Amino acid sequence: MIRTRFAPSPTGFLHIGGLKTALFAYLFAKKSDGKFILRIEDTDQNRYVEGGMEQIIWSLKWAGINYDEGPDVGGEYKPYIQSERREIYQKYINELLDKGFAYRCFCTNERLEEMRRKQEENKMPPKYDKHCLSLSKEEIDQKVANGEKYVIRMKAPDNEWIKFNDLIKGKIEFNTKELDDQVLIKSDGLPTYHFAVVVDDHLMNISHVIRADEWVSSTPKHILLYKYFDWKEPEYAHVPPILAPGGKKKLSKREGSVSVNEFVNLGYLPEGMINYLVLLGWNPGTTEEIFTMEELIEKFDLSKCQKAGAVFDIKRLEWVNGQHIRKMDTMIFRTKLMDYIIQDINKRANNESFIKFAIIEQERINKLSEYKQDFNIIYNFDESYDGELILNEKMGADKVSAELAFNESIKLIESIDFEKLNSEVIKTDNSKLIELKKSYEEFIKNKFLDLVKNLNMKNGQILWPVRYALTGTDKSPTIFELVWILGKEESVRRLNIGIKKIEVLG
Ligand code: GLU
Repeated sequence: MIRTRFAPSPTGFLHIGGLKTALFAYLFAKKSDGKFILRIEDTDQNRYVEGGMEQIIWSLKWAGINYDEGPDVGGEYKPYIQSERREIYQKYINELLDKGFAYRCFCTNERLEEMRRKQEENKMPPKYDKHCLSLSKEEIDQKVANGEKYVIRMKAPDNEWIKFNDLIKGKIEFNTKELDDQVLIKSDGLPTYHFAVVVDDHLMNISHVIRADEWVSSTPKHILLYKYFDWKEPEYAHVPPILAPGGKKKLSKREGSVSVNEFVNLGYLPEGMINYLVLLGWNPGTTEEIFTMEELIEKFDLSKCQKAGAVFDIKRLEWVNGQHIRKMDTMIFRTKLMDYIIQDINKRANNESFIKFAIIEQERINKLSEYKQDFNIIYNFDESYDGELILNEKMGADKVSAELAFNESIKLIESIDFEKLNSEVIKTDNSKLIELKKSYEEFIKNKFLDLVKNLNMKNGQILWPVRYALTGTDKSPTIFELVWILGKEESVRRLNIGIKKIEVLG
């Protein structure tokens, strides 16, 4: 049975690099009907952040990465929070001490600092000098009896090769002379990451350790511990990081948003986010780019993952997210958009009107936060725009033609049966809403084009002033969409405001 895990430390918001790693481990497990486990690694109390675990859980749930076992769902191997597993580590460290693969170290911080200083002076790598390895049993017992503080270190052999085959990075080997006698248990009795991770991955039957690239150099220490315990080691796959633009450094706060909650606030959808993240390191070997989670589970393959980091590209994320918005059921999109902008909703954005708004936006925006400009045009119209801008020399829209355009458009709009149009929106099946909008847009557009023709004028002479008067700006949905959503009364009111504005122009 394939069992993978995501083992974050609760150090604050979940970075999208962490989400990508979790996603790879999740997809790998689910592809073979395996289990995916969440384990919280909180033994480093200095890095602990209140609420960090809840943040991680929330982010995974938002993304649709559902774990089979974890702190809040339980499971056969509970507890899944390391600080609740103290006794377990105690038992296993005793085993290593008994076997002589670990030893107590009583060195004071002063001594360790002095040692490091000397190593630096002599340009030697920073490593513990095994000072306490030579203590006799009596000396150790005496020190313990005196209440001296100690840590427990692993004994790294001198010159052995540790080799493993990383499922992403390929063959990797390290010589143990490069390894430090790593602290396994700290003076507060809690294990370090290196010890807890091995004990837990073993006890939780993890078959594949899929984790961030930065842990590659720790892997030989872990493999040694497996050997010392005589346990079967898992397979390893180290996932390359997300790089900042430029491709040299890891993506960090300096480049802008990095945590999952920031992307949620910007209105990215989970579908878009996971699709984009998986493409940062994996591709299916075809030109296909847009996938649902189910499709990813089916297609994902660790052997197709690239070894190098991938550069974060916000434009591509936006594009991928936009594709998922277009693909959604319109009424589901409407609900998501409504939830997102709830604080801005006002009386004018009533149910029927908001459905129309969602239909229009579903084709226009790449992330939910982009709703604002069109929302304001439609529901918070600012009448104080500069009337001069209604006229446009290039388009041939002068004061006379604009006035004609307004008066004729008012007549045109008054002739439309909006009640019929609106009742159909409410009745229409979700999957047909976009088509319905297109047919109304076409219908209103044809009316305007006929008007242009009948008046023997140019498109811009009519359409520019009308669009400007309806929006007070030059970036907006089409006038035909605007007339459809604003309805008779509001469209006519805005055109009359336009008439007043040009009347006073010189
Ligand atoms: N607790 C480690 C972290 O925060 C997990 C490393 C691992 O997956 O082994 O990244």
